[in-house]
Amino acid sequence: MNQWEVVIGIETHAQLATVSKIFSGASTAFGAEPNTQACAVDLALPGVLPVLNRKAVDCAIRFGLSIGAEVAPKSVFARKNYFYPDLPKGYQISQMDLPVVVGGSLTLQVGSGDKTYEKVVRLTRAHLEEDAGKSLHEDFHGKSGIDLNRAGTPLLEIVSEPDMRSSDEAVAYAKALHGLVRWIGICDGNMQEGSFRCDANVSVRPKGQAEFGTRREIKNLNSFRFLKEAIDYEVHWQINEIEEGRRIQQATVLFDPDTGETRTMRTKEDAHDYRYFPDPDLLPLMIGADWIERVKGELPELPGQKRERFTNILGLSAYDAATLTASQEIAAYFEAAVAVAGQGNAKLCANWVMVDLAARLNKEGKDIADSPVSAQQLGGLILRIADNTISNNIAKKVFEALWNGEGATADEVIDKQGLKQITDSGAIEALVDEVLAANAANVAEFKAGKEKAFNALVGQVMKAAKGKANPQQVNDLLKKKLAG
Ligand code: ADP
Ligand code: MG
Repeated sequence: MNQWEVVIGIETHAQLATVSKIFSGASTAFGAEPNTQACAVDLALPGVLPVLNRKAVDCAIRFGLSIGAEVAPKSVFARKNYFYPDLPKGYQISQMDLPVVVGGSLTLQVGSGDKTYEKVVRLTRAHLEEDAGKSLHEDFHGKSGIDLNRAGTPLLEIVSEPDMRSSDEAVAYAKALHGLVRWIGICDGNMQEGSFRCDANVSVRPKGQAEFGTRREIKNLNSFRFLKEAIDYEVHWQINEIEEGRRIQQATVLFDPDTGETRTMRTKEDAHDYRYFPDPDLLPLMIGADWIERVKGELPELPGQKRERFTNILGLSAYDAATLTASQEIAAYFEAAVAVAGQGNAKLCANWVMVDLAARLNKEGKDIADSPVSAQQLGGLILRIADNTISNNIAKKVFEALWNGEGATADEVIDKQGLKQITDSGAIEALVDEVLAANAANVAEFKAGKEKAFNALVGQVMKAAKGKANPQQVNDLLKKKLAG
């Protein structure tokens, strides 16, 4: 395994969040009764002509701008010819030689915590195309049916360079891309409904070899977990083939989530010749500087720009900044909390959002947008940790109370439940003396060299103070008294 290097390139189909289809006025809404959202154009009735949906082009431009790509001034729609029952025209309208978006890159944070590293993945291109219909093989009077509702739905096919070197990098790429298309509002990212699906091209080569190995393409992976499992299996399989003296044949394969294995669907020999040619029904797509400027003006601050602000101005780590820009909702929540707690407490806000809040939301299966604790409430809570009104432990109690609606603000909860930290050294000293007198055995153990006895004494003082004594002061005072 060690002498092999993995090479991965990913093709992604993102369904664009337009109201109507890319070349017709039919609705793109998901889940309608079969064949109720396919008009004459989608059904390819004789004499119909496609009309390009301007909103789909807006989406492509948004994407191009957000990855630093070139938006082509001229791109061309082409017919990709093949026969399949779910494709009434006998061809798919796509783009081949001249795609609408060329180049660009995505910067990823791979791994977690301290082991995070940055990785730049170059993009080859992104092009506009239409989706096909869907064959229904189940529950259909023992026969197969065709649902053409999806036919003509706008897609952006996004192709990466073969820059990834592990399944972890592939998943980080897919997640970053998924986050980005949702961030800029061009795709709802719903993977179960097929709005965002990935094909992973995988090859292996001996470390140090310049040429790539032969790739196999795993089709239609619709979850990050399947993407990782499929690549890991495929890499294992390819290495084994080569080590046993067989050659890898270029092929398209399917991943079976039930067995965790990939199996060959077709090899290069049975590859289609799609006979691409420019679609005579559609003019070349011309995008002028004014169109690009308009779309640029409508773009929100991008995740990359936010990340930079979070690291440079707020002093967060690259990992924290990446986590907090996973979606606009998380970023907005974090920024609203910082607005209340102050920039100096940004790191504390980051920890609370990424750890405590995230865990609580996760437990209840809630989205951050529906968090029972608002960003303003959390910001107020963090202010009280920062100014030592409460300890971190008590803060967890206050958070829980806010979550359960037991107060409108952290201050109200602290007040009502009497949680204010005891910092009066006289009061703490009285508690320490009480505990030392009542726990002679612990004191003796500590003096005999048992460090653990000290923690037991701290625990006793905290218990006597109902958790509210300032922990640092308790520690300091106990040490002083025990030394004396
Ligand atoms: P096609 O047009 O047949 O789909 P492309 O050359 O456009 O082929 O490549 C498709 C995808 O495969 C791209 O994402 C690319 O980065 C990736 N790719 C190309 N060669 C390799 C390879 N040897 N190993 C892994 N991925 C590869
Ligand atoms: Mg391809």
